[in-house]
Amino acid sequence: AKGLGKNQFCFYSDEMGLQLVRKMELEKDLQLALENKQFFVVYQPKWNVKTSSLVGFEALIRWEHPRLGLVSPGEFIQIAEGTGLIVPMTRWALEEACCQCKRWQLQGLEQPVSVNLSVRLFQTDSLQEIVRNVLDKVGLEPHLLELEITESMVLYDINDIIRQLQSLRELGVRVSMDDFGTGYSSIGLLDRIPIDTLKLDRLFTNDLESPSKRAIINAIIMMADHLQLDVIAEGVETREHIEFLTQLGCHVMQGYYYGKPMRDDEIGEWLKKHEH
Ligand code: C2E
Ligand code: CA
Ligand code: CA
Ligand code: CA
Repeated sequence: AKGLGKNQFCFYSDEMGLQLVRKMELEKDLQLALENKQFFVVYQPKWNVKTSSLVGFEALIRWEHPRLGLVSPGEFIQIAEGTGLIVPMTRWALEEACCQCKRWQLQGLEQPVSVNLSVRLFQTDSLQEIVRNVLDKVGLEPHLLELEITESMVLYDINDIIRQLQSLRELGVRVSMDDFGTGYSSIGLLDRIPIDTLKLDRLFTNDLESPSKRAIINAIIMMADHLQLDVIAEGVETREHIEFLTQLGCHVMQGYYYGKPMRDDEIGEWLKKHEH
């Protein structure tokens, strides 16, 4: 704040103070949120445009704060990563999503579910065990579970991450690289990191009018093809998005156009509208 006028300094300091107070409050309340059952999971469909069919759901966590209402995961995941609470929280989300997937299966809807894994989970030493225990407990076939990891993992001990991913895939679960193409470039390591799917970040989908962005996506899709990776685009909101992506050879999509993340009891109705 050096060199700023006194008032300006006060303004920023108030803003930052408020943010800090909220963060500290959330951090404190987050400790109890799991015990007090304030989390729930919503499911967003993934859609294959070529076959006009549902190909799975992504599980996304939600926090209903007793006083503040819904708090966005964009806000609390980071806090949970900082305190380490992300580990029990993810274990809970994993079990919740696997149970839901099992229920769907028993109802005749066999669709894989994906769960987001923060890099912190790879620092626990027992990630494979956590996943195996949940699958056993729920009685879910591993091929119905997918784990979404992010590119930022490449900043950590990459050999250790690769080893852990291999042991996860030995269980029979699938792995996808989320938010691909943003931030850290993992391109040079893609032939070494054992994954099944690339998830194109929403930023690309939203920028498809730009010829240079289209060229990049085109190259990513061709590369994925050579590496025998599936590609899914996220943030698909409009007909134009779908047309551009289809032209570029991407056929699996996720976004508000097909369905927003839904609570389990909203999915039946969504299915009635979308499946024939
Ligand atoms: P993400 O994994 O990239 O999830 C996609 C986010 O984009 C979700 O936000 C989803 O609601 C939103 N989205 C989906 N379709 C559209 C669309 O067409 N347009 C727009 N504008 N947005 C769309 P959400 O649920 O708020 O989650 C934000 C991030 O929080 C996630 O990004 C993920 O990184 C993290 N997150 C959520 N649940 C979990 C979890 O259980 N564990 C971990 N580690 N992270 C989670
Ligand atoms: Ca994700
Ligand atoms: Ca994503
Ligand atoms: Ca994202």
